[in-house]
Amino acid sequence: MSEPKKKVLIVGAGIAGLTLAIILKKTGIDCDIIEKKETFGPNRSGIVLDSRAFKSLQALSLSPEIQKHASEINFACISDHMGKTLARCNLSRISLKNCPNLSIPRGTLLKALSHYLGEREIWMNTTIQDIQNKDTDVEVTFSDGSQGNYVLVVGTDGIQSQIRSMFFSKNIRQYAGYSCWRFLARQVEGIEPNSAFELWGRGKRFGIVPLRHGTIGCYGTFNSQPGLNYDGQEKVEKLKSQFADFGGIVPEILEQIHHPNDILFDDIQNVYLNSWINGRILLIGDAAHALTPNFGQGAGLAIEDAARISQYLNFSSTLLSGLSKFDSREKNRVRKIQYYAHQLGRFAQMSSWIGCAIRNLVIRIIPNYVLLKTAKRAFFKE
Ligand SMILES: Cc1cc2nc3c(=O)[nH]c(=O)nc-3n(C[C@H](O)[C@H](O)[C@H](O)COP(=O)(O)OP(=O)(O)OC[C@H]3O[C@@H](n4cnc5c(N)ncnc54)[C@H](O)[C@@H]3O)c2cc1C
Repeated sequence: MSEPKKKVLIVGAGIAGLTLAIILKKTGIDCDIIEKKETFGPNRSGIVLDSRAFKSLQALSLSPEIQKHASEINFACISDHMGKTLARCNLSRISLKNCPNLSIPRGTLLKALSHYLGEREIWMNTTIQDIQNKDTDVEVTFSDGSQGNYVLVVGTDGIQSQIRSMFFSKNIRQYAGYSCWRFLARQVEGIEPNSAFELWGRGKRFGIVPLRHGTIGCYGTFNSQPGLNYDGQEKVEKLKSQFADFGGIVPEILEQIHHPNDILFDDIQNVYLNSWINGRILLIGDAAHALTPNFGQGAGLAIEDAARISQYLNFSSTLLSGLSKFDSREKNRVRKIQYYAHQLGRFAQMSSWIGCAIRNLVIRIIPNYVLLKTAKRAFFKE
């Protein structure tokens, strides 16, 4: 049976979707990309692209535009909830050669990626109404009623993936045991420009990532039940009260927060699937394997997925065998990172008084090189 015309549909112009669209465009594979949001802004969170993510971007020649808007993060500091330093690690010791860790506002990252594509090539404000996954092609009806035929549909639609819920088994999202606030704030005194900070409390953490132009990306995690939702001013008050017992620079940062629309709130979840393919439907990025954001790996995996799948599409004799090779070869690599990120989260989110005292002591006395070596083994080795 001959393969139909090779036009690919990418659902979701996030980190994985945009990267894949750029690569396909470069390699001459025709594709459409849709995005349900109207714009990439406003910026309400920062994201850290680790050294591996940078290497992938560099290999794809995508790093210059991103570096223009990013800061380098060379140190990671952990302190107790009052700001007393427990460990300060030089990340360049585990970074890949000439590949810095970068921090950048999420919306700015998406705009920078779309720069390589041309924003008009992305169908914004568009989603899927119906998909028929057939033997020879995929018939798609879009939210505006228009239709298209594709040789492959790639779901890059993130952790809440519509494509996953249509074509893959349900209940594969697992709550990690904590939820997360995110917001941007102005730099305050005491924050080193190239250091990411986490303050570890009992069952909660507050993190700070310096960005450009006197801005910082902040996040706060806390152990809870899944499905919590706060509206209006309650959102602001809940965030502030949750970290009211934190010291150091946290109170000064929280004072800046007034508007609920400036705050993001998410349950932290893992997505586990036995297979990322179903016929001519493929999932990559968070849609396939969302993981807890400990040691900031999700964006890097999303970029790597896009780079790796494009190799299988190029060199496979048929598309479907390429997909299945990708599926079977890449899953173990991702599972390992998911596992270590989850374990790190459990350790950091410890809540008993005695457990936290031991945790903080361990972090304080273990030599930095041991912490770094452990992180390297978990996150940077294939
Ligand atoms: C609190 C938190 C902090 C994080 N911090 C970091 C970090 O510092 N570093 C890091 O590497 N990772 C971090 N991550 C993880 C990282 O954000 C994700 O792994 C990464 O964004 C995954 O990229 P993606 O392209 O798969 O999905 P997304 O970036 O989520 O993109 C999905 C896109 O699809 C669109 N979409 C959704 N549904 C549809 C639909 N039906 N039709 C059309 N479009 C659709 C969405 O609007 C979105 O634009 C964090 C995650 C969380 C929750």
